[in-house]
Amino acid sequence: MWKQQKFDLIIVGGGPAGSTAARFAAIGGISVLLLEKDRDIGVPVRCGEAASDEGLRIFVDPDTRWIKSVITKLRLISPSEHTIDIDLKQKGYILDRRIFDYDLAQYAADEGAQIVCKAYVDGLLFKDGKVAGVTGEHLGERFEVESDIVIGADGVESRVGRWAGLATVVKMKDMESAIQKTIAGIEVDEHRFDFYMSREWAPGGYLWIFPKGPNAANIGLGVSGKYSRFRSAQRYLDDFLAKTFPDGSVISSTVGGVPCDKTLKKFVTDGLMLAGDSAHMVNPMTGGGIVPGMRGGMLAGETAVEAIKAGDTSEKFLNRYPKAWHKIGGKNHERFYSIKEAIFRLTDKELDSIVAAVEKISPDERSIAKVFRKAVFKKPSLVVDVMKVFAGI
Ligand SMILES: Cc1cc2nc3c(=O)[nH]c(=O)nc-3n(C[C@H](O)[C@H](O)[C@H](O)COP(=O)(O)OP(=O)(O)OC[C@H]3O[C@@H](n4cnc5c(N)ncnc54)[C@H](O)[C@@H]3O)c2cc1C
Repeated sequence: MWKQQKFDLIIVGGGPAGSTAARFAAIGGISVLLLEKDRDIGVPVRCGEAASDEGLRIFVDPDTRWIKSVITKLRLISPSEHTIDIDLKQKGYILDRRIFDYDLAQYAADEGAQIVCKAYVDGLLFKDGKVAGVTGEHLGERFEVESDIVIGADGVESRVGRWAGLATVVKMKDMESAIQKTIAGIEVDEHRFDFYMSREWAPGGYLWIFPKGPNAANIGLGVSGKYSRFRSAQRYLDDFLAKTFPDGSVISSTVGGVPCDKTLKKFVTDGLMLAGDSAHMVNPMTGGGIVPGMRGGMLAGETAVEAIKAGDTSEKFLNRYPKAWHKIGGKNHERFYSIKEAIFRLTDKELDSIVAAVEKISPDERSIAKVFRKAVFKKPSLVVDVMKVFAGI
């Protein structure tokens, strides 16, 4: 019985980061317990469910059961509703995360990880100043379970890092208030992502339409915390839906925070690592956190295996994990953060003039890089921002 056992590794949270960490740690042969507070893995879904084929293939072969739409093109819509269509070089997907997250947990269990739902973790155990397990409640009963390492994969509202003394606060301007409704009974292009960029629709963020087949879509937006206190994300979305899809049926809705920030400066301490949203691993430019969370989970799980085998769970040893994260993606996140800052400084007038310039490029020759070059041409100060990004200033 898991409540009486000691584990090499306990993971808090059964999202993409937690399940991936559990899978890779179990593959490495250590004992793993994953605790999830909700009744079902993958529910409730708080996500637009978009992910790239290339990103997912790092970990798994995409399964047709999780794919609601295959995306081959994207449309950018300017404030004055001019559009640019771009064919994507690499395809993307809109997933059904209820099935996807469930399968990720099952892969971890298949490798030998123990997974327990309805297990709410409410504190950490410490021994000689090191994290040494968790406390919580399962079906009305208190538990205390020891482990050599804990991974906090408890999402955007993470408390595990704070309990271990890590600084996890997100600046208000970098916390996007996101809201999304799944709308059915509408017509959409099932192979296209639509992105609306305007301070009118989503200040400090963007509005998306992600199709789920030809007659339904996840429609949502993120608004920077800097603006959401003046007008709520809900108001922005309801106005858009009333205007654009007045007859659509809302079959589900969700709200949540997205930490569009640089990865935490420090996300490891003695006996503890954070992964996914809890470590602010979301791509700060797009708000995409599924694939980055899985990357963080994989690296944290693999580092846990090395630490257990070396008999050293100190912060010094576990620091291999942030080093690996920065090598594969963390540095890019700092760049994406700076690009995000530059893009969200553009006024609606500037965005319109960029779109007007890109409209002149023939559709066959359009690419994200060309859109970007036009943007720099139209708004020369972007050159400075972009140079800073690539020079790492
Ligand atoms: C509206 C919205 C749209 C989004 N759209 C996209 C998108 O299209 N593409 C994309 O890539 N990303 C998107 N994201 C971001 C993406 O959803 C997250 O980055 C991703 O889910 C992070 O994975 P995670 O495993 O770190 O955390 P989560 O998926 O949040 O999982 C954390 C888990 O920990 C559990 N937990 C928390 N506290 C405890 C506790 N004390 N005890 C036990 N369990 C606990 C939670 O119940 C949860 O299951 C979106 C986010 C929002 C809010």
